[in-house]
Amino acid sequence: MTSVDFDREELFAFDDHFFSLMALHKYDRRLIEQTRKSLEEERHFCREHLAPLVLSEDRKHAEDPHYLSWELVRLAGQHGHLSNFIPKFMGGNGGALGLSTPLVEETGSVDSAFSGLMGGHGLGLAALMMTLNMEVLDRVAQKIVANEKADKPYMIDCAITEPTAGTDVEEIELYPKARLMCQAKRVSGGAVLNGRKVFISTGHMATDHVILMPFDLKDPVNNHGCFLVPGDSKGFSLGRKERKMGQRAGPASELVFEDCFVPEENIVLAADEFPEERYRDQFKSLLHGVLGITRTVVGAWSTGAARGAFERSLVLAKQTKHKGRTLVHQQWAQTILTNMFMNVMMARSVYLEATFALMMNLSGGMMRSIPAFMNTNLVKRIFQSKGFKKLFYSTWLRKKMLDRMISIQPEQDDRIQVMSSMAKVVGSDMAMENCHLAVELLSQAGLRHDRGIEKVFRDAKLLQIFEGTNQLNRLNIFKHYFARHLPGVEVF
Ligand SMILES: Cc1cc2nc3c(=O)[nH]c(=O)nc-3n(C[C@H](O)[C@H](O)[C@H](O)COP(=O)(O)OP(=O)(O)OC[C@H]3O[C@@H](n4cnc5c(N)ncnc54)[C@H](O)[C@@H]3O)c2cc1C
Repeated sequence: MTSVDFDREELFAFDDHFFSLMALHKYDRRLIEQTRKSLEEERHFCREHLAPLVLSEDRKHAEDPHYLSWELVRLAGQHGHLSNFIPKFMGGNGGALGLSTPLVEETGSVDSAFSGLMGGHGLGLAALMMTLNMEVLDRVAQKIVANEKADKPYMIDCAITEPTAGTDVEEIELYPKARLMCQAKRVSGGAVLNGRKVFISTGHMATDHVILMPFDLKDPVNNHGCFLVPGDSKGFSLGRKERKMGQRAGPASELVFEDCFVPEENIVLAADEFPEERYRDQFKSLLHGVLGITRTVVGAWSTGAARGAFERSLVLAKQTKHKGRTLVHQQWAQTILTNMFMNVMMARSVYLEATFALMMNLSGGMMRSIPAFMNTNLVKRIFQSKGFKKLFYSTWLRKKMLDRMISIQPEQDDRIQVMSSMAKVVGSDMAMENCHLAVELLSQAGLRHDRGIEKVFRDAKLLQIFEGTNQLNRLNIFKHYFARHLPGVEVF
């Protein structure tokens, strides 16, 4: 045997994703059925297609720093992963309106790097969705779906981080103090962008780039902008691709803007479009919405990593002997394996709860009123009609949705912030803990590349850093859970 990634059928069935959801009885039954079906397909994809490539792809990146995992992207496209988060009525797989987080856990358990590759693309889609610019969102969605069908994958990314501003641009209170260097300027017919973005997931493989950049560095929160920049735009170039310790299949890229012109139709959001006082908090809602979604998703992805470490350990514990007896027959090993299993279940409970909090509270509860029938063919047909598209793209509808988004109650926002940060911190900490336990349990076998755990370990560490470091997320939980009841206590 060269890799444990092929031996998953040896494991007991891990088909209990829904025990807590069924207990809640709050989800639409059709939604649960849809998700169960998708989960089965995802498991098949992971076992048959993804698992055999995991270690060889990782080695190719180690050997050639310029290598890009196009084979994984093509595979993702052939199995609908690039359109997973696009609503069904826009031609996608409907994940945004459903319970897509268990699917993220599934791929995360096999290959965190694959999740990273999909993660940059998903972050771009989440940002576009939260701008509420339905014309651009639909345009990008159509391109993703059509290219996926034609087996010519089209991906996007989302660039927020700058060389001098990482943590500070992941938190609205820190944003005004961030040392931002990137700046957009209004010019005739559009805008011009200047500056550099770094560590952007999927950057070198994205066709178009979703860029957050303010128009005024003195007051970035109230002068924010979001832009769709095609990779062949004049003044845009790709800088270095980071040589990072883990998740190598997902490139972390530098994006360079030198008087890069963005035409009006690609200005996805500009604060001056909505100058009314009631829209002052628009950027806060956008950032909180995007991070609420992506931190929950990273929670699921991290739970997958924790599970990946556990599952591989279980297989190896059945094969590895210590003092003449296999590990699974030894009590000390049984307690370690049980701890690992409990860590997975804890992380899973938190991200599922966070998913529920998102569905109930995101954008002032907008998702709550979107039942499973939104994923039906009837709704898709209505959406495709010309008259409906006109309404869907209208400023009138955008303002209605914005009003709803802005009207989110503080307690709804707190719930999203606390639960999504918890999902991210608990998941990624449990992933790291399980990697430590795996190496403790297996020693040599835990360290050898061909056994798989060594890669899970390198991949998992990165999960504690992006979408706000775990330190920042802890402070975020304190702010949204405790600080409100502790007058005078300042968090940021
Ligand atoms: C693999 C990977 C993929 C990424 N993908 C993307 C992407 O697609 N798009 C994107 O925009 N960005 C992306 N990032 C960037 C990521 O969001 C930042 O790395 C992250 O926000 C941390 O910023 P930093 O690395 O600059 O660390 P810093 O902000 O410099 O933080 C360094 C340390 O200081 C602590 N710290 C900083 N400020 C505070 C504070 N106010 N209070 C307490 N502690 C603080 C941090 O917790 C950390 O321990 C990615 C990063 C990685 C590693």
